[in-house]
Amino acid sequence: MTPAPSQSPRPGLETIMRFAPPPAGVFVDLSDSANVWGAAPAAVASIAANAGEAWRYPSLYGEPLRLALALAHGLSPAHIVTGNGSTDVLRAAFTAFASSGDLIAWMEPTFVIVPILAQLLGLTPRAVRLGPSHAFDVEGLLAQRAAITYRCSPNNPTGTRIPQRELWRVIDDAPGLVILDEAYADYAGETLVAEAAVRSNLLVVRTFSKSYGLAGLRVGYGVAHPDIVLALERVRGPYAVSRVAECAAVAAVEADAVWMQAHVREANEVRARLSSALARVGHAPVPSHANFVCVPTRDAAALAGACAKRGVLVRAFRALPGVGDAIRVAMAPWEVLERVVEAARSV
Ligand code: PMP
Repeated sequence: MTPAPSQSPRPGLETIMRFAPPPAGVFVDLSDSANVWGAAPAAVASIAANAGEAWRYPSLYGEPLRLALALAHGLSPAHIVTGNGSTDVLRAAFTAFASSGDLIAWMEPTFVIVPILAQLLGLTPRAVRLGPSHAFDVEGLLAQRAAITYRCSPNNPTGTRIPQRELWRVIDDAPGLVILDEAYADYAGETLVAEAAVRSNLLVVRTFSKSYGLAGLRVGYGVAHPDIVLALERVRGPYAVSRVAECAAVAAVEADAVWMQAHVREANEVRARLSSALARVGHAPVPSHANFVCVPTRDAAALAGACAKRGVLVRAFRALPGVGDAIRVAMAPWEVLERVVEAARSV
């Protein structure tokens, strides 16, 4: 599938505006799968403590954060590249490992920024559609022989995790770089960071935006073989992450793991409860391993409207491959999610 040429000087903005019109009144925003429970506390304390240090430059290539992450993952800093959000790490990878016109392949639907970045960078998109029952077409993906193959597990917006066997088939047989986006991996409790450090063709991309609740801070990172890290750093350049953000991310890694895990547990618990409640009112979600659920429905706009009437903003999708019309709902305290169940009952 080739995305339609965009009339907008900023590709992506029109899509986001169409799906999330700015509301009047007071809303709980569950439309973008951020952490509704808030920001990790040691990171917040670090932001306050380091505000007066904003006159100082950050490290050139994120050395303190790479060291903290290396210790946390049992790796070396040479395996880690940081970025201004994981979107920035993806951009660096797309730039470093594909030239204008080269193929980039992914399963559709997936993270909406991927086709936007591909378009911005002049890459040739190869979106392989998800089959019925959300089945991944591994052969179809590999047949593209793309310079970059992007996978996301758990996947946004479906929440589905890729079975390990399929993932390894892609990593073993794809001809170019394989990017595994682990933005929601903390919710699924599985990661390939250790494997990424030793493979020559695998980049695992992670973010502080979800489980650590730091989306506004813009910090992400990649884990890969040191040769891949060096290639990404040449594109990323120096000073990509602000000093305040870097200090806060280090604090999060060193002191917020327990907070993060507690909120991951809570998100997973309410997800199970919401999934059962929605199934009882005829809106069973796609089985999810992320901090959101994708709820197929006959008319996404109608269900999103019913949620909005109850003060909850959700993301509406039209005709998602393998799913159809659906809404995506981020996890939140149960009192908020109850309103989504009421909305589903009403349509
Ligand atoms: N990957 C996926 C799958 C996402 O859903 C998102 C955010 N929606 C990102 C990456 C981007 O995260 P960041 O804030 O780190 O740029």
